[in-house]
Amino acid sequence: MKVLIAADMEGITGIADRSYVLYDGLNYELGRSLMESDVNAAIEGAIAAGATEILVVDGHSGGKNIRITKLNPRAVLHSGSTRPFSMIAGYDKVDVAMFIGYHAKLGTENAVLDHTYTSRLKLWINGIEAGESYMNALLCGNKNVPVALYSGDQALAEEVRGFSPDSYQVVVKEAYGRSSAYSLHPEQSRILIRENAKKALEAWKAGAIKPVTTTEPVEIKVQFIISEMAEQAAVLPGAERVDPLTVVSIQPTIELGIRAFVTMVALATAPVY
Ligand SMILES: [Zn+2]
Repeated sequence: MKVLIAADMEGITGIADRSYVLYDGLNYELGRSLMESDVNAAIEGAIAAGATEILVVDGHSGGKNIRITKLNPRAVLHSGSTRPFSMIAGYDKVDVAMFIGYHAKLGTENAVLDHTYTSRLKLWINGIEAGESYMNALLCGNKNVPVALYSGDQALAEEVRGFSPDSYQVVVKEAYGRSSAYSLHPEQSRILIRENAKKALEAWKAGAIKPVTTTEPVEIKVQFIISEMAEQAAVLPGAERVDPLTVVSIQPTIELGIRAFVTMVALATAPVY
């Protein structure tokens, strides 16, 4: 059993605001150790479930948060930002995945640091409003890789239940706003993640957790908050600007669709005045 543990930071135990997730933030060193703790819990659960290979991906910002010396030695770590799918690098080489420290999509109430790639856009995939959890689950699903478990705040869990009700969701904190939360102690969430990771992988082995999929061709719709961002994103060949803030791209596969999305984000976030 080859397991991918894809880690983001905003949904990690104890992380309540941006001071924990920015490299120069007041609480960043604490934030990365909390991230390592949640990831180690998932590794322990995977080992208990019989994983033979465990690949951890550091998917937050430039992928330089997890210190390899702090990880359980049974795992291999991907650091850095391979394009285009750096959050889940290696998803095509595994049997099953778990998403740790994930967060709700932009525009969710009471969700720690809700965003979708940036804090300046909303995304729809085939008409379904998507965050990073759904987007990355679709990429995994395209390779027949189910995401057995997601950890984050209560808003992430609710979002995931909407598109993957058979997966396990671990709630490590209750968001009380965008920059505040009641969190479990990391020793408590470590037990919770470890036990649920083991159960989730056993459920997957028993055939109870299916990959997340969509139909192809795929319609990618992105609504920006500034008209100039939409103007720049519409430079993408084949993209159509359907209103001042919204750009649509239709692509033959989900993989090309998400590549189109990532390209539009890069175009749109080039300097805007
Ligand atoms: Zn992140």
